[in-house]
Amino acid sequence: MKYLVNENCIGCGACAGICPDVFELGGDGYAHVVADPKSDTVRETAAEAMASCPTSAIEEA
Ligand code: SF4
Repeated sequence: MKYLVNENCIGCGACAGICPDVFELGGDGYAHVVADPKSDTVRETAAEAMASCPTSAIEEA
C-alpha cells in the first residue's frame, strides 16, 4: 500500500505521531509521505494513521 497526503491536510500532526515511518510533518506545516510501509507493523500503523486523519487527507495512492 502506498499513500499520499492531499490538500485537505490541516497539519494537525496526528498521522506523524501514529506512524512516523511513513508520515512526517514538514517545514511547510503539512504532512508528507516519507516512505512506503515495508513491514506488516508499519502497514498497520499507516492504516491507523489514515483512519485517524480528521480531514480525510490521507489517500491510498
Ligand atoms: Fe494532515 Fe491528516 Fe496528517 Fe493531520 S492526520 S497532519 S490533517 S494528513
